[in-house]
This record gives sequence, structure tokens and C-alpha cells, in this order.
Amino acid sequence: MPARTSPRALPVRTPDTPRPKIAYVLPVYDEADNVAPFHAALTEATAVRDDLDWEFLYVNDGSRDESLARLLELRRHDPRVGVLDLARNCGHQIAVTAGLDAAGDADAVVVMDTDLQDPPRVSLEMVGLWEDGADVVYAQRRSRRDTLFKRTTAWAFYRVLDRLASVDIPRDVGDFRLMDRRVVAEVARYREQDRFLRGIVAHVGFRQEALLFDRDERHAGTSGYPLGRMLAFAANGILGFSTAPLRMITRLGFALSALSVVMAAYVASVRLLRPEDSVPGWAFLGVGMFLLAGLQLVMMGVIGSYVGRTYTQVQGRPLYSLALTARGEHSGVRSLP
Ligand code: UDP
Ligand code: MG
Repeated sequence: MPARTSPRALPVRTPDTPRPKIAYVLPVYDEADNVAPFHAALTEATAVRDDLDWEFLYVNDGSRDESLARLLELRRHDPRVGVLDLARNCGHQIAVTAGLDAAGDADAVVVMDTDLQDPPRVSLEMVGLWEDGADVVYAQRRSRRDTLFKRTTAWAFYRVLDRLASVDIPRDVGDFRLMDRRVVAEVARYREQDRFLRGIVAHVGFRQEALLFDRDERHAGTSGYPLGRMLAFAANGILGFSTAPLRMITRLGFALSALSVVMAAYVASVRLLRPEDSVPGWAFLGVGMFLLAGLQLVMMGVIGSYVGRTYTQVQGRPLYSLALTARGEHSGVRSLP
């Protein structure tokens, strides 16, 4: 096989150097009927690249069905399969985090769903882009075959998020993505409780590329994201990456105060310009009510901005992630050749 001269500068291969290892992080929640067909599709897709080492790390997220037994069955037949079993259902984002924490020694990690909505062959294209130098390859949905309700809410959510979020979180992108080991290491530094991984990955940076794909239907079973969970997830995305809701308090306060000033000006003009008319009955109460309500909201907004700062401080995110240092080999970060 010819030597691979990729911009990723993988080590020159001798028989002793280990082959690049790609780990899949695969969250499983009540997917008993899906794991076997999924694994078959995945092994078939990855078989075309026998120059790479593969690991398939399934994270059982407290499934109530036979999923764990089926996963252990897979492991018996395929030593590349790893199984993590969470002690309870922690939710998809945390299941993926547990998988990422365990996949640390891989050169790149692919995260994908196990309900066959994310086609395994697309992940092979991701590996190709990674070899060409991309640090993150995220799969962007060109089309999706979900219910009308899911499609509309998702559409609205990504637009709202786009307007509010402080980092650019790409639209119509789920958690199906490949990350270089450096990105995985940086993501591991974000330990916030309410996790919105696609936002965290966007926040980390590095060279990110989109790969368009058509999202399939769920193979069997039902979605683990019913409406309530979906709303909580959407709130995590917006609250985790935006303080816009807090700023809205201040804006509303100023708007109400301004309204009271307009009302006061109107009352004063009636008094001064047409002294024969009596001032309207709402003058005192109306002006006072809007002024007070407005001032209170402005003050709440002031408290809100301190709360917002406390919140970002408590999130304790890294201030920056280094992509490269030109200082030498000792820093642990990829250095200039
Ligand atoms: N999942 C999980 N824990 C949960 C819910 C879902 O690990 O609490 C997994 C699920 O098995 C699937 C992936 O996360 O592999 C995406 O979930 P799902 O297909 O239910 O979401 P949807 O595609 O409907 O958004
Ligand atoms: Mg799904």
C-alpha cells in the first residue's frame, strides 16, 4: 500500500507503529431490536478500511429492555466491541460524554445514534475528511424523514438558537460527528451538568467541516426524546450558550419605563395646553404603575447580569483551547514540524 501523505501528518508507518484507531461512541437506550442490525451495517461499512483499527464502544444508558444482553452478545462475537453500562438512564448527552471519556486513546472518535437514523457509511466519509486534515466533521442534514411535528419544532429550534447563541452552532446538525483526539480532549474539559454537546464542540473551535447527508427513519422502536425531553434539551441549548433571556428583562423594563414617560408627557400636555379639560382618570395610577414596574424590571435585569456572570463562572469552561504551539515538543500540544 502506498504511504499516506495526508496533511494530518500521521506517523510514518513501520510494522511496529500502531495503526490509526477510530472509536465509535454509540449511545443505546431501549434499542434491543436495533443493535444487531445496526452493528451489522456498521461492521459492513467499516470493513472497507482494513488499514485502520476500529473500536465500537456502546454505552447502554439504563435501557429497560434487552439492549444490554444484546450488546454483550455482540461483544462475544466481535472483540472490537466495548460495552459501558450506565447505572441508570442519564440521558443521551451524558451517555455520549461517558463514551467520549472512555474513548480517550483513539485517534478520532465518531459519535452516532444506534437506531440507524445516522447511516454508518457516512461516517466513513467523515474519516476521509479527517485524514485530509479536518478536526471536526459534523453531519448536516440535507433532509430528514421524521414526523412533521419533529421537523417543524427542530426547524424553529435551530433558527432561534442561531439568533441567540453566543457561538456559531451550525444548523440542522445533531450529534453525529467525528472528532479528532485533540477535540475530544478539549471537550472533556467542559464538565457542565446541563450538557448541549453540539454547542460545546462549536465552542471548542478547531477546523470544523460540514458533511451533508440524508437522515433516515428510525429502524425500530420509539424516540427516546419525547416532547418534554426535547423541550428540556432545547432549553439547555439556549440557556447554556446565551444570556439573551436575561437581557430581555432589562429591555422590557426600559420599554415599560419609556411608556410611562410617554403617558406622563401626554398628561402634562393636557394640563398645560388645554387647561379647560380635566386630566384623564388613569393619570396618576397609570403613569405610576408603568414607571414602577419598569424600574423594577430594570433592577431585576441588573441582578440578572450579575447572575449571568456567576453562571458563566460556575460553568467553569476553559478560556481557550490551543490548536498549536510553536514552542517545542514538551508542551504536549501538536507542535510545528
Ligand atoms: N438515547 C440515549 N439515552 C436516552 C435517549 C436516547 O442514549 O435517554 C440514545 C438512543 O438510543 C439513540 C440516540 O440516543 O441512539 C438518539 O436518540 P433518539 O433516536 O431517541 O432521538 P431522536 O433521533 O428521536 O432525536
Ligand atoms: Mg433517532
